[in-house]
Amino acid sequence: HVKRNGKNNYMFYCNQMQDEVKNKAEIEGILRAAIKEDGFELAYQPQVNVGSAEIEGFEALLRLKHYQLSPDKFIEIAEETGLIKEMGRWVTTEVIRQIADWRDKGYELKPVAINFSSKQLRDDEYVDFLDKTLQFYKVPPHFIEIEFTESILLENNSDTARFIQSFKKLGIRLALDDFGTGYSSLNYLTFIPVDKIKLDKSLCEKFLGMDNIKAMNSLIALVHSLHLVITAEGIEDIEQYERLKAGGCDYIQGYLFSKPLKKEEVEKIYNCNFTNKIRH
Ligand code: C2E
Ligand code: MG
Ligand code: MG
Ligand code: MG
Repeated sequence: HVKRNGKNNYMFYCNQMQDEVKNKAEIEGILRAAIKEDGFELAYQPQVNVGSAEIEGFEALLRLKHYQLSPDKFIEIAEETGLIKEMGRWVTTEVIRQIADWRDKGYELKPVAINFSSKQLRDDEYVDFLDKTLQFYKVPPHFIEIEFTESILLENNSDTARFIQSFKKLGIRLALDDFGTGYSSLNYLTFIPVDKIKLDKSLCEKFLGMDNIKAMNSLIALVHSLHLVITAEGIEDIEQYERLKAGGCDYIQGYLFSKPLKKEEVEKIYNCNFTNKIRH
């Protein structure tokens, strides 16, 4: 910014920038402390089968135990500082440990999705680490779903291809997250071996309005014709649900059914279905 109105204005910009820097540094400090002192926890959001209203699986979402800070904010800083590597590994171990814990308590196994940042492509040994952790807890690989966004495709082509191949080889499921927020080239869908497309909340909001519902139905049909399944994200109301059901959407994740839950809360609803939320 150009200094325009004398000293005060200059000070204003200066302070603001310092605040921003301090804020990032503060968050970095919080993340470093959380890595050292067991300061993370996971929230699990149910993914609901549209036909049966049963819980098909969960998405694991990272939280700080002692701070109300959105992952949209702290994940970015984790990526910039490289802390994402250790955090990503913590999430992976915790998810697999949790799946094993639920199994040992007698719950039927259900898949859990893990978000994988494109910056984790720098963690060369990640797939090996994932494999060993699955073996240690005796969890079959197809109960893990890796969610990545199309940003991974723009990051580094040879690393991306190598990671995707090794995930596939291990038997991990793959989901393309936030579909509809970036370039969302349909071309991707023909060459990345994903199993699932996750439609972003913003796209659902636009395409579930009366004017665009035909486009939504065509998109669902297109995804199915590529032999992929489709999850709609951020679904909050019953009208959206009904339109998605009519269009043949497979899964819904959203506040209509459930917010992300603490692990103890998950145990109360693990085998429930949500028919009560869709009955009039
Ligand atoms: P995402 O992977 O697209 O996750 C879905 C986000 O939408 C979650 O936000 C979830 O709480 C929110 N959501 C779900 N249903 C609704 C709804 O009906 N209404 C509204 N308003 N929101 C809904 P959250 O937990 O704040 O996470 C934000 C993003 O942070 C995630 O977006 C993901 O990109 C990232 N993230 C979260 N945990 C991790 C992690 O462990 N690793 C990485 N790399 N990224 C993560
Ligand atoms: Mg996700
Ligand atoms: Mg998403
Ligand atoms: Mg997102």
